[in-house]
Amino acid sequence: MSRKILILPGDGIGPEITREARRVLEACRDEGLDIALDEAPVGGAAIDESGVPLAPETLEKAKAADAILLGAVGGPKWDAMEDISKRPEKGLLALRKELGLFGNLRPALLYPQLVEASSLKPDVVSGLDIMIVRELTGGIYFGQPRGRDTHEDGTRYGYNTYVYDEHEIRRIGRVAFEMAQKRKKRLCSVDKANVLEVTMLWRDIMNELAPEYPDVELSHMYVDNAAMQLVRAPKQFDVIVTGNMFGDILSDAAAMLTGSIGMLPSASLNESGQGMYEPCHGSAPDIAGQGLANPLATILSIAMMLRYSLNAPAHADRIERAVGEVLDRNLRTADIAYPGTEQVSTEAMGEAVVAAF
Ligand code: ATP
Ligand code: MG
Repeated sequence: MSRKILILPGDGIGPEITREARRVLEACRDEGLDIALDEAPVGGAAIDESGVPLAPETLEKAKAADAILLGAVGGPKWDAMEDISKRPEKGLLALRKELGLFGNLRPALLYPQLVEASSLKPDVVSGLDIMIVRELTGGIYFGQPRGRDTHEDGTRYGYNTYVYDEHEIRRIGRVAFEMAQKRKKRLCSVDKANVLEVTMLWRDIMNELAPEYPDVELSHMYVDNAAMQLVRAPKQFDVIVTGNMFGDILSDAAAMLTGSIGMLPSASLNESGQGMYEPCHGSAPDIAGQGLANPLATILSIAMMLRYSLNAPAHADRIERAVGEVLDRNLRTADIAYPGTEQVSTEAMGEAVVAAF
């Protein structure tokens, strides 16, 4: 039976970049991958069409799909909306929650052809290949109680709750240990166990899991030191596992080591291996519709989809090899172009990857 893939182009550059990624999926289909493609609006595009950022029938399609490809949502057109429950971004949060996508994989891989685009010195970053595993549905972003209020004396205050249950820590821990087993077998768990009780529990659970993965070398690091080490000597890391907030911050920092946000894919997985795949960047309204967007983050997200949800690692390898070949030929979208390279449009980049596939 065909595996179902739902494409949600979204807003801004979303439609342009998912169009190129779709071509790559079609190339995989031509080469024997048994997939069925469907498309639906999400975010601002869905608000314009149906009044809500995630229509019930789109959610049903998402639940029935083996994997979802998301472009990006949001933009200035919808930023002024009074009712924040109907903002484009809510469509994305609802998808994550409804599908239980707790495991966020964000690789930071520097292609050798792009060493000059990194913000660090070549010897510090060349060969960089880190996988950040971030817990996505718990922690301080979701903990209750939360709010803003005013004391009787008129002083204002705000509060959030940083909470993790042991089963939430254990399931993200397992994702990270298994990832490390498939890579260089080094796992660094990042916490703030010297200050926060919830992360003391985090550290305990990681230590409890370790004997089940004797081939993986587990280490621990405080988040402040991890931020420093990522910039000082990032190649010491293989897999990093951390909570929602620390992962949000560290993965953005790691992204800059690789040169352009236009190169970075991501995956969000649930317990049954179903996943949503999307570029790390946003909808980039400043460049939408001009053929300037880099489609490679989205195309590389397809490679992650084939590897993690569709069990087609050979096709995933071919996509990654095709991207490398296109970079070898010095083809560059504007964000990664520099003197001596050839600047091409979003569409031309997508076509070049398909041709190299
Ligand atoms: P969001 O809140 O949705 O994450 P954002 O405001 O943080 O969005 P992005 O939309 O990711 O930011 O854009 C940040 C900058 O990076 C913009 O200048 C944008 O043009 C650029 N950018 C983002 N994605 C790409 C891409 N695929 N190709 C080229 N440039 C990009
Ligand atoms: Mg952003």
